[in-house]
Amino acid sequence: MAETYKHPTRQIVRNGALADLPSEVDRFKPETILLVVGKESFRKSIHFNNLQKYMVGYDLSHIISVGDNPTEQFLQTIWTQQKTQTYDLVIGIGGGSVLDFGKTIAALLTQPCGTVSEFLSNQMKFEKDTIPFIAIPTTAGTGSEVTQYASIETEDKQKISLTDIKLFPALAIVDPELTHSMPPYLTACTGFDAICQAIESYWSVSNSETSEPHALKAIPILIKNLIRATQNPNNKDARFQMAYASLEAGLAIAQTRTTAVHSVSYPMTTYFDVPHGHACSLTLAPFIRFNAPAIKGARGEKLYQAMGVSSADNGAQLVEDLMKKVKLEQSLTKLGIDTSGIQTIIQNGFRPDRVKNNPRHLTPEDLKTILESIA
Ligand code: NAP
Repeated sequence: MAETYKHPTRQIVRNGALADLPSEVDRFKPETILLVVGKESFRKSIHFNNLQKYMVGYDLSHIISVGDNPTEQFLQTIWTQQKTQTYDLVIGIGGGSVLDFGKTIAALLTQPCGTVSEFLSNQMKFEKDTIPFIAIPTTAGTGSEVTQYASIETEDKQKISLTDIKLFPALAIVDPELTHSMPPYLTACTGFDAICQAIESYWSVSNSETSEPHALKAIPILIKNLIRATQNPNNKDARFQMAYASLEAGLAIAQTRTTAVHSVSYPMTTYFDVPHGHACSLTLAPFIRFNAPAIKGARGEKLYQAMGVSSADNGAQLVEDLMKKVKLEQSLTKLGIDTSGIQTIIQNGFRPDRVKNNPRHLTPEDLKTILESIA
């Protein structure tokens, strides 16, 4: 029998959906709003002017600008600055880094503890209700708009995921038009993040009757549209499909989490500055081959069918070809990761929550073989 399942984030997915923001904001009746955006892409875009037009009557002067992969130190600085303010609503508009930061600050501002490190060492649970958060993605990949996770880079270069049901945004507004300005490389990176998330959710040991349909819906759409969106940034249909399917992949991982591919990607980003989605893409093909014996028979066939191939080897080949077509470098050496870098990744790439979620047990020796295969 199917499990009962209801996702807590309301979702609006439509070209032009940003225009819905004022009526959605009205529902919260906020007196004071905190706006969280990226460094410049959104503010330079026409959508920022539109936002100001739509939100006339609301004060949008409380703004935080967030860079890529926010750190614990940055979070502490902003928390200290904002602690004395009272906000009724937080709106995050940007990539996964902005959305994760927006969720985190919306949650932290109501908590009694004093420092981020105290919070991180206190089992990372939010005792008090958080400020409602509206997530509006400008990239198509992380699915953060519908997950209860938020990544933060700690002082010792670990990328940890805060995880709490209270981190689910109250509302996700997915307006694919906000993603048209992504350059090809960013489109490829973020699109691959979504492909990895959908595939990892499917083969995860936590896969369920309710997560699987989201993953299987996302996979073919992402594979079919990534090249279209990368090569033709203004292709409305391709951008729509990528934004929609990345939300579906987000809905899938909200139930299952990701697996070894994501675990291994984190040190590639924190130690070697490889952007998140690119880092994930690097080991996807080798893990399709590695995990194949653990998803034999009908289980594997369903995945390969969703990818449009007939076997694990063909699936891995498809991923390698796709990376080539969207110009994602596949060699670790060319990305500045040499033999000692591989050791760093092995030492820091085993996140227990992700590796235990992988369908096949992974040893350091296995990972060494995988990383050497893409050196
Ligand atoms: P990102 O780190 O949010 O942004 C990367 C770059 O893209 C930024 O420099 C940003 O510039 C630019 N950018 C964003 N939107 C743009 C647009 N429409 N046009 C042009 N440039 C744009 O990248 P991301 O891949 O979306 O997010 C990665 C982060 O999300 C990682 O920290 C990862 O761990 C996290 N993540 C979270 C979840 C979750 O469930 N919570 C899932 C997967 C990944 P500006 O700063 O100028 O805007």
